[in-house]
Amino acid sequence: EVRVRYAPSPTGLQHIGGVRTALFNYFFARANGGKFILRVEDTDRERYSDESLQDLYDTLEWLGIKWDEGPIVGGDRGPYIQSERFDLYKQYAEQLVSEGKAYYCYCTPQRLEALREQQQKEKSKQQGYDRHCQHLTEEQRKAYEKEGIKPVIRLKVPTEGKTTFHDVLMGDISRKNKDVSPDPVLLKSDGFPTYHLANVIDDHMMGITHIMRAQEWIPSGPLHIILYEAFGWEPPLYCHLPMVMGKDGQKLSKRHGSTAVREFREKGYLPEALTNYISLVGWSYDGQREFFSKEELEQLFTLEKINKAPGIFDYKKLDWFNGQYIRQKGDEELMELLLPYLERAGFVTLPLQEQEKRDMLTLTAVSKERLKVLSDIVDLSRFLFETPTYEDVHVFAAKKVDLATATLALERAYDKLKEGFAAGKEQEEIEGELASLAEAMEIKVNGVFMPLRVAITGSTVSLPLFDSIKLLGQEETYKRIETALD
Ligand code: GLU
Repeated sequence: EVRVRYAPSPTGLQHIGGVRTALFNYFFARANGGKFILRVEDTDRERYSDESLQDLYDTLEWLGIKWDEGPIVGGDRGPYIQSERFDLYKQYAEQLVSEGKAYYCYCTPQRLEALREQQQKEKSKQQGYDRHCQHLTEEQRKAYEKEGIKPVIRLKVPTEGKTTFHDVLMGDISRKNKDVSPDPVLLKSDGFPTYHLANVIDDHMMGITHIMRAQEWIPSGPLHIILYEAFGWEPPLYCHLPMVMGKDGQKLSKRHGSTAVREFREKGYLPEALTNYISLVGWSYDGQREFFSKEELEQLFTLEKINKAPGIFDYKKLDWFNGQYIRQKGDEELMELLLPYLERAGFVTLPLQEQEKRDMLTLTAVSKERLKVLSDIVDLSRFLFETPTYEDVHVFAAKKVDLATATLALERAYDKLKEGFAAGKEQEEIEGELASLAEAMEIKVNGVFMPLRVAITGSTVSLPLFDSIKLLGQEETYKRIETALD
């Protein structure tokens, strides 16, 4: 049975790269009828935060990633939060000591610091711990204990030979043992495990079959294999995932834009769009098809289709995806998604009255084509809820015509609109008349439409003009043009 895990450290908000790892593991488990396990690696208590843990749960829930075993839901191989497993790590670390595969080290932070400085000064090839405590005699140990020094436990890393692990994507990865970090700490003096110890023990105890994680963990691979060997355990299969990069070929970071999933959620990306798009970062089905529902990915996902090359996270492409997903929504459903944004902007109070609801449905219908993210609705609909101020009268000119011409165009357009509506003319007909007006004035069509748009909506970008008028009502429309002309 396939058993995979997502093992984040709650030391920050869930970001695109982490969620990509979670999704790939989740899809792989589903596609193989296996289990997806969530494990919280909270051994770094200094960087731990409750907020990060809550953000982890919220983000996975929002994306619809359900874990089969893990915190909250439980399971046979728990607990799934590392801070609840400290006894276990201690027990295993001590077992390695008793088997001579690890040892107690009493070196003080001062000694280690001095060692580091010396190595740096001498530009010594030997970096890291000098294995000082590996060969302590029983008496020396006792003496340290007597001084009250609490030891750490260090792993004995072989100095000869090499260690190889197999990666499904990258093939065999080998490292000379003398280049592996010399005798890393497994258990700290306060009894806390390090990442390496806890990670290896848990993957084994939880029966993990495949480790899919970010490529930045490749350097830890040989050390983990040495640990598995020390315990006499079979290591899982490795599949390190390609990096996630921005369009400039640099590792995705805040410089490129938001990376916290929570921010994407707040801006109004849809979970299905984000899931679909992220699944394409470093994976492809046939190099052609781009749209996949979550259910389809749960069936189609295979390790073989993961790319070796880094995946590019393109914000523009995500916007496009999101727009596509927004347009697939029914008006009613989309309106429900938009309402919280309108409420937060102070434009509506919920629940809506009947008439308001009809208006919001109309707003939704005419906005749909123009939304990239849900929060776009705020700027698009602001004109409905706030009276524009016309300080920026010069934008009437829209840079194409001078203010006098723009004002004249607006006056005439106002008459055409009023007469047209009064006579019950169709939208197309009035539009035609406005176009002829531009022609008669020997200006571009925009020279008429832009001043109108600005007068009515207070902005040069808006919903289609006649939709705006419809939403605003004719009276309010006339009033605004009059105010603008004042
Ligand atoms: N806790 C590690 C992280 O935050 C897990 C790495 C791994 O998957 O082994 O990425």
